[in-house]
Amino acid sequence: MSAFDFAARLAALAEQDLLRSRVVLDSPCGPDAQVDGRHFVSFAGNDYLGLANHPEVGDALREGVARWGSGAGASHLVSGHQRPHEDLEQALAAFVGLPRALFFSTGYMANLAVLPALVGRGDTIVADRLNHASLVDAAVLSRASVRRYAHNDVAAAAHALEGASGRKVLVCDAVFSMDGDVAPLAELLALCERHDALLVVDDAHGFGVLGEQGRGALAHAGIASPRVVYVGTLGKAAGVSGAFVAGAADLIEWLLQTARSYRYTTAAPAALAHALLTSLRLIAGAQDKRARLAAHRGSLQRGLASLRWPLMASGSAIQPVLVGGNAQTLALAQRLRKRGLWVPAIRPPTVPAGGARLRISLSAAHAAAHVDALCDALREAGNE
Ligand SMILES: *Cc1c(COP(=O)(O)O)cnc(C)c1O
Repeated sequence: MSAFDFAARLAALAEQDLLRSRVVLDSPCGPDAQVDGRHFVSFAGNDYLGLANHPEVGDALREGVARWGSGAGASHLVSGHQRPHEDLEQALAAFVGLPRALFFSTGYMANLAVLPALVGRGDTIVADRLNHASLVDAAVLSRASVRRYAHNDVAAAAHALEGASGRKVLVCDAVFSMDGDVAPLAELLALCERHDALLVVDDAHGFGVLGEQGRGALAHAGIASPRVVYVGTLGKAAGVSGAFVAGAADLIEWLLQTARSYRYTTAAPAALAHALLTSLRLIAGAQDKRARLAAHRGSLQRGLASLRWPLMASGSAIQPVLVGGNAQTLALAQRLRKRGLWVPAIRPPTVPAGGARLRISLSAAHAAAHVDALCDALREAGNE
């Protein structure tokens, strides 16, 4: 076993303050998290609209189980594709304004499907340096060559597209998961037009939050094009689980025919799709929730304007505080925890080395007092 020596490798992680541990919650997803008999105000989840524990979504899920049972029993291409899956795909496509959508079990699997279905050996993927890990893995799986460009740098992306070989795909997060900033999608799409490339947009954090009625990053950027391949996830703002890829009808049919992470896996339970139809209706009508989220963002940005550590202020629900070192970030998170506030410390490899941060994630389910308490505690910690 010496070639593996897991104990030594784990010890090396511990030495660099890089060991993770899971927190066991004794409560549903929401601002009130119960852990070890204590209550914390959680800024750790991605339930931006407070739908993960919404009574109507829960009722729809129960109704879905009553009508469709607990499991789909097979992959979509064999016998697992039930009416709610079909209805959900149509509703999602219409919602994001693209011709067709394909439902996946998770965003990770949707991303693993997309890049290898679009490009292969001899082709080129042009990717933002800060893309989500699932896109990084998908690029490796595709066997295309990968050119990474400096984060959100349109000129660097253009440079990467110049002279790229084979079919070209530019891929980026719409809202970067650990930074919260939004990609310049209109400019990137213009580049793709110029270079005959496809634009793959991962909108895990924008779907439900950005754009009119929460229709996502494309609506937010005011773009619509047959060159866009849109990935939305359904476990964050939608409060359930799953994901979808939307785009031109032929492209989606190609995915359905060829994507291995679509073919070789059991369909997610139809009850989830049934519940997601209710989520989607709630998202479209959640103007009040999106306004509350924006108000929380405003108070946080005002409250932390002169904090010792820079707030990476963004137009999304993700508002990271950049601390730098792993140990310092963990210590700050620990200090907040003593005050009953739970903000996760994000360390490498999730973020670049030296870029450890607190990732504050806001939700419409937070009360204004929660955000004020967090600002007070962070300012106090900064003054010590
Ligand atoms: C969360 C996330 C995913 C993965 O989605 P899951 O449905 O959780 O698997 C993909 N991309 C980004 C940018 C994400 O933040």
